[in-house]
Amino acid sequence: MSVTLVVASSGIGLFARDTAERDLAANSRVFDKIIASREGQMADAGEVVARDFGFREAFATGDAATLVSALQSLRDRARVSEAAIVQLDGSVIASGAGGAIDGAAMLGRLESGQTSGVVSLDGTEALAAAVPIEMPDLAGWLVLVNTLGPDDMTQLSRLSAVAVEAKVVDRSRLAPHLAAVPLGEIVEVDSDDGERLVRVSPIASLQDGREPRLVLAHSLGAALARYTSLRIVLLLISVAGVLGGAWAAIRLSRGIAQPLQSLAEAARAFGGGAVSKVKVEGAVEVRSLAASFNTMVDAVEEREQQVMHASLHDALTGLPNRRFFIEKLDRAVQRQNDNHQSFVAFIDVDDFKAINDAMGHPLGDELLRSVARSLQDRFPDAMVARFGGDEFGLLLSGLEPGADCASLARTLETKLNREMTIDGRGVLVSASVGIAIGPQDADSSDGLLKCADLALYRAKNDGKGAYHFFEPELDAEASRRRRMEIDLRRAIRDGDFELYFQPLFSISQNRVKGFEALMRWPHKEQGMISPATFIPIAEESGLIVQLGEWAMREACRQAAHWPDDISVAVNISPRQLAADGLATCIAQALAQTGLSASRLELEITESVFIGNVEKTLKILHSLQSLGVRVALDDFGTGYSSLSYLRSFPFDKIKIDQSFVRALEEGGSAHAIVRAITTLADALGMETLAEGVETQELLDALQKEGCDMIQGYLISRPVPGAEVAGLLGALQPAEARVAVG
Ligand code: C2E
Ligand code: CA
Ligand code: CA
Repeated sequence: MSVTLVVASSGIGLFARDTAERDLAANSRVFDKIIASREGQMADAGEVVARDFGFREAFATGDAATLVSALQSLRDRARVSEAAIVQLDGSVIASGAGGAIDGAAMLGRLESGQTSGVVSLDGTEALAAAVPIEMPDLAGWLVLVNTLGPDDMTQLSRLSAVAVEAKVVDRSRLAPHLAAVPLGEIVEVDSDDGERLVRVSPIASLQDGREPRLVLAHSLGAALARYTSLRIVLLLISVAGVLGGAWAAIRLSRGIAQPLQSLAEAARAFGGGAVSKVKVEGAVEVRSLAASFNTMVDAVEEREQQVMHASLHDALTGLPNRRFFIEKLDRAVQRQNDNHQSFVAFIDVDDFKAINDAMGHPLGDELLRSVARSLQDRFPDAMVARFGGDEFGLLLSGLEPGADCASLARTLETKLNREMTIDGRGVLVSASVGIAIGPQDADSSDGLLKCADLALYRAKNDGKGAYHFFEPELDAEASRRRRMEIDLRRAIRDGDFELYFQPLFSISQNRVKGFEALMRWPHKEQGMISPATFIPIAEESGLIVQLGEWAMREACRQAAHWPDDISVAVNISPRQLAADGLATCIAQALAQTGLSASRLELEITESVFIGNVEKTLKILHSLQSLGVRVALDDFGTGYSSLSYLRSFPFDKIKIDQSFVRALEEGGSAHAIVRAITTLADALGMETLAEGVETQELLDALQKEGCDMIQGYLISRPVPGAEVAGLLGALQPAEARVAVG
């Protein structure tokens, strides 16, 4: 009997220690998940900003004020200690309040592709997640940093099932008794606070020269104390057993030893990762021990599930996030074949930025939730996910060969392009959709994502509110675009561009009043590349800002040598107008070349108004106050041309070629051109018709009240060196005398 008791008592001791060890092992798993989930959340938040058009533009143009404000708002929104940009040379642009990080020490890791780990934030250990800023070449990293100081770690510890102390310490600062603990093993350590189980594990560092360690400690005393009552019971049992006789002793030991045995087995299984509960049976104390073991299993399980859920879902819409979507897609791709196809759609809300600006962020959020709901309602069997920002993904797997993908696409289109009621207001929402089908388009999830992305790009370019299926040509087109962008960068560096000039001819004065500067790219292999081809690529990549600055300086430089009554018109892209520094660039170009401001005309298109009308108007007024003229280019090709005429005093309206073409066909074109010139006249604006190729058109335009023309009839665009000769040939004799 005594032997049984001694064995049982020490068995409990061993079991308690065993359980404590399992607890600690289970907790370190929870910790790893929590940390991975935090990093994931930070990376997701960072990714949305790093891909944001406005942010990349601010970065490309070195607009520090916008960058710092974007970083501050990212920091507040993501609730992290600091958000910063690490540039390729290691220098750091920080939001300013969170503390200093050493960007140079991070470079090595970042360049090798590592995206998360521990860094030092003002000497405190902190968790960092980095996302590359791609424009599209790597231009830096956006880094979110959250401290892992004592307070943060206590907060994290609260998420774990048992009382665990956790801290992150650099190896160089570990106490000697902790430094001696083998990595990843659970070891008993005697410290001032009694006996403790300790686990020291390495944790990735995002800076060179540092070796952070996660130290988890669990008091053994506390673990053993939970079983004190059990020991007392055993003692009582022994007394009762001696008194009560062998029969009672055997019965009692059955009620304890066997359930304890199964409890120990369950604990081992649980430690190994299995969900293992025990039957609640045996003596009262053993039953309560079993019950509390089961409660612990439930609690750990639930916490693990919460952590998993948070790391796989989007907080705003409750939808699965990109990571979850990709996991699902991975599985769908493994099973896909010609009889089980995958339908992958990328959905991007059109002009969401403008809607968000106009309606305010809370309503913007509501709109995203509405889109999420309508997708889920209409496609209950699909995986609908939010990728961040205004992008959603939809996956339908296991489609049969006869499945009508086109009709699915049309359903998506009708569901997404309609008036939605947001906070009682009707908002016209439209979205573009890119679709890829597996396995016909690609047999990997990466491939399908890429195809859907290319198709979305095309859908956006085709006009808003449309869907587009992936086609192999899109792939070829994308690589052509990439190659051309690389070429463009080199050509900008080498100064390979030229300006051609096309006369702007006054009908009533019968003379040339100015020239429009048009860019030309003489390419070594491909010959002369048209601006219609390279300007869109330069706009997309932001290179247009540099290119446009060059055109401005060069146009002013050449025009300064022309006669005083000849002006020069320079095209300004919407992106140039949005970037800071356009007014400075123009003022400098004028000052350096001595060209008078009244001889410079800026040509803008109405697309500059999309997004923020107020801001655009402010910029245009500030440009006009420099003394330069502002012309509205391609008039009539947009949606609301007429309304912009009344909001800004343009000096000139350039009627688009399409109207001039239409004049030849008769119909209502005459009436439209007449309406435009009458309105422009009333508003005190000059009118110019573009693309005039024949004398008949000139006559017709003159009759409809047009002031000026531009087109092959007068001259094609010519190199700068030919401007003087062209003027000589075109100007009437008296004008030539006046010039000469
Ligand atoms: P745009 O500003 O509408 O320029 C007028 C275009 O019409 C020019 O094409 C010109 O060569 C062409 N054109 C002129 N007269 C006629 C004609 O009688 N018939 C026909 N069929 N075409 C005529 P280009 O030079 O190919 O330029 C295309 C576009 O590229 C320009 O359209 C402009 O949007 C853009 N672009 C050119 N240079 C620059 C620049 O320096 N900066 C910016 N942002 N865009 C530029
Ligand atoms: Ca133009
Ligand atoms: Ca034009």
